[in-house]
Amino acid sequence: MSEMVKPVADILKAPAPHMVGDAFRVHNFFPGGYKIKMSPFFLLDYNAKINFSARNEPRGVGVHPHRGFETVTIVYKGALAHHDSAGNSGKIYPGDVQWMTAASGILHKEYHEQEFSNTGGDFQIVQLWVNLPAKYKMIKPKYQGLQHSAIPTLTLADGASNVEVIAGEFQGVKGAASTFSPMEVYNLKLKAGASLQLNLPANYNTGLLVVEGNIKINQSSDAQQDQFVHFKNEGTEITVEAIQDSVILLLSGEPIQEPIASYGPFLMNRPEEIQQALADYNEGKFGYLEE
Ligand code: MN
Repeated sequence: MSEMVKPVADILKAPAPHMVGDAFRVHNFFPGGYKIKMSPFFLLDYNAKINFSARNEPRGVGVHPHRGFETVTIVYKGALAHHDSAGNSGKIYPGDVQWMTAASGILHKEYHEQEFSNTGGDFQIVQLWVNLPAKYKMIKPKYQGLQHSAIPTLTLADGASNVEVIAGEFQGVKGAASTFSPMEVYNLKLKAGASLQLNLPANYNTGLLVVEGNIKINQSSDAQQDQFVHFKNEGTEITVEAIQDSVILLLSGEPIQEPIASYGPFLMNRPEEIQQALADYNEGKFGYLEE
């Protein structure tokens, strides 16, 4: 193995799922399922593909707060609707990404989109919680609703495979989302037989979620659909080869070297800041959103 290769640390199976509200059946890869270093990514909830039956009343998660981080929702199948107390709302369809910076505090609700709910069907999404550096935790909330057509895409040499650059930069193509610390977030959509080399800093925490298909990494490790490939913090080069047509989410970022205090929907640095978040929430300082 070349000294430049970023070696695989582990190939992780999806932990047992749990429901979030009645809308999301998620496998929590971290921090619950596996204690792996993935900062600035604090949480990865993966709703593996399931079929929801038709229902006129959309399934969802009602009004709840967040403070101190960003929620990033990536839809692969199905559709979501969202409203928040800062006045933002949107529908998120396959290929779209919602990047919501909760920062100083927001209330939001997340539901299956009405028409999707009416017909039912396959549903597959990722929700990431991306930590914010301390100096940005109490800034004004921000909302980036990134439609698929607005996500810069690089087509690979085979003319059919591509890389969607959600954040960061890949081969000169800058990502759609602005971020508060350095990170790379891409969807790799590779046709069977396609192979791709990624170059990422040795110190970045890095993983690949196999959303569809199966892949070979660094010519040696196999990963199947719904598995997460975690890399060591050494070396810079990763080779991904698609065995079948595959969709892979790449997460790689510079670790935020700050203390963490987390409690439910709040992610701060110190326990006093969690107490403050609870007090502010109870006093209605996160704004108002109708159920
Ligand atoms: Mn939420």
